[in-house]
Amino acid sequence: METFAADLQTMVRTPLTPEHVAAMRRVGHLVHLKPGDVFQEAGTPITEFHYLLSGETEAISGGTGKRYGNATLGPGQFFGELAFLTGGHAFMSGRAVQETELLCVKREDMLQLMSDIPEMSDIIISVYAARRRRMVEVDEASLTLIGGEVDRDIRRIASFAARNRIPFAEIELDSREGDALAAQCSIDRAHPAVIFAKHQVITPPTPRGVARALGLDMALRREDVFDVAIVGGGPAGVAAGVYAGAEGLCAVVLEDLAVGGQAGTSSRIENYMGFPTGISGGDLVGRGEVQAMKFGTRFAMPVRAQELMQCEKKLFHVRLDTDDWVSARALIVATGVQYRQLPLDRLADFEGAGVYYAATDVEARYCKDTEVAIIGGGNSAGQAAMFLARTAKHVHVLVRGPSLAASMSDYLLQRLQRHPAITIHTQPQVAKLHGDDRLPGLTIHDGATGQDWDLPARALFVMVGAAPNTGWLSGLVTLDDKGFVPTGREAGGRSAYETSRHGVFAVGDVRSGSVKRVASAVGEGSVVMSAVWSHIND
Ligand SMILES: Cc1cc2nc3c(=O)[nH]c(=O)nc-3n(C[C@H](O)[C@H](O)[C@H](O)COP(=O)(O)OP(=O)(O)OC[C@H]3O[C@@H](n4cnc5c(N)ncnc54)[C@H](O)[C@@H]3O)c2cc1C
Repeated sequence: METFAADLQTMVRTPLTPEHVAAMRRVGHLVHLKPGDVFQEAGTPITEFHYLLSGETEAISGGTGKRYGNATLGPGQFFGELAFLTGGHAFMSGRAVQETELLCVKREDMLQLMSDIPEMSDIIISVYAARRRRMVEVDEASLTLIGGEVDRDIRRIASFAARNRIPFAEIELDSREGDALAAQCSIDRAHPAVIFAKHQVITPPTPRGVARALGLDMALRREDVFDVAIVGGGPAGVAAGVYAGAEGLCAVVLEDLAVGGQAGTSSRIENYMGFPTGISGGDLVGRGEVQAMKFGTRFAMPVRAQELMQCEKKLFHVRLDTDDWVSARALIVATGVQYRQLPLDRLADFEGAGVYYAATDVEARYCKDTEVAIIGGGNSAGQAAMFLARTAKHVHVLVRGPSLAASMSDYLLQRLQRHPAITIHTQPQVAKLHGDDRLPGLTIHDGATGQDWDLPARALFVMVGAAPNTGWLSGLVTLDDKGFVPTGREAGGRSAYETSRHGVFAVGDVRSGSVKRVASAVGEGSVVMSAVWSHIND
């Protein structure tokens, strides 16, 4: 299966060429370091690109203070990883091992050079992405979560970090490591906590707090006017971000939870052209995010669009749940759909602590060797079942109707039917959730026999009926009777993806009548840009 980036261990090193170095020298400055001098502190904003002309440097983990990996960097290599592109804070410190001469280039100047010299950009981005992949894989990180096994806030952060490819390490609450770290940070040892870089305790422990500490929550000001604001960072929104940047538009992608959208919760997409062995949705859209950032598109998250206003013919304001406003000449609605919540007593008490809406590595870890139940009969439920069956003791797929044949692709249905750790139950209804704050099991009502039975499932995955995320459009755009956004001439738009409101476009799953697939979302997000361009420049 394809992944997010090359494997750093095996990738062929391509050095920057003398022309690239000469270009950097024209805008950069030299810094001489003595052994032990720190040139980048973990947890602080990344303001410069660092290229080694001579000497030796090491990367120091912001969490453990130890050398990162076994290697040091020598002449011809450069420091850093993907956080340089996002404009976030450094995950690791950079320190000289011996007398070192660094060529330092201001971040904005370096981004401009990368945009002017694509070959240089390709080399840097390939190395950065491979380094990020390795950081995520090795579990050595500047972000440490203590107590995820007992605390749902910590689990939410684990899910947020995993879906956004933020490297993090998890420590159990009653472990020696947990006690030691808590003592270093002067916090209550019996308390779940999130710690970043040099013992910076993130309070309250929320995805937004983590994003702030990592510098992911871009400063947004109402007076800054973007050419286009793209709301939603799923496949459609990220594709729009790539094309907006490539067309030279000043664009921002606003994402509520995690770049990747629904696709980011799919462990294996097998029907997207160009990936014959499949690719996880998170990796696919993550590649797109890097590509969009390379073209200058900015990402802000987690931020939720709450209200839309139009002040002038070509000026829209989006109010966010942070109370910030984003202004743009055109708007792309790419907010997709989300699973409906079940009308079940005390459902909210278990969300994140037994009830989940996505099956990713993080949730799979919490369900290891336990029984799990999935409600849903579509491909997403089928993929989740196959994925969870790799680690769970047994997976029960609960399908409302008498069979899966109408709702699930045949290849997937056959795999489910053949899998020894998967059972398909037809016509069941979840009648009751057991337990107080953690789920020990469910009562199921069998619609065919009328009998109740208990299922000792410690996790329930809800993957039923998707509803469009359009409440924030504030009545400015006409919706269909199910809440989806109609586009095109019949809706009053001047082109295929324009809505009833000129300058507001809709793409992907949120669009009325769209094919609910990754390929169509990516396609719509890509081609909409020519109409956006015309609207801005008319
Ligand atoms: C588990 C699973 C497996 C799937 N497998 C496949 C497959 O194998 N092949 C395939 O072709 N399709 C598959 N699909 C369908 C595919 O993922 C979707 O069709 C596709 O993701 C739609 O993309 P989108 O960008 O339109 O919307 P989404 O992916 O829904 O993305 C919308 C984004 O907008 C964000 N958002 C929502 N409201 C707001 C707001 N107010 N403010 C800011 N952000 C907001 C959401 O957080 C989300 O990230 C699968 C779906 C699931 C759930």
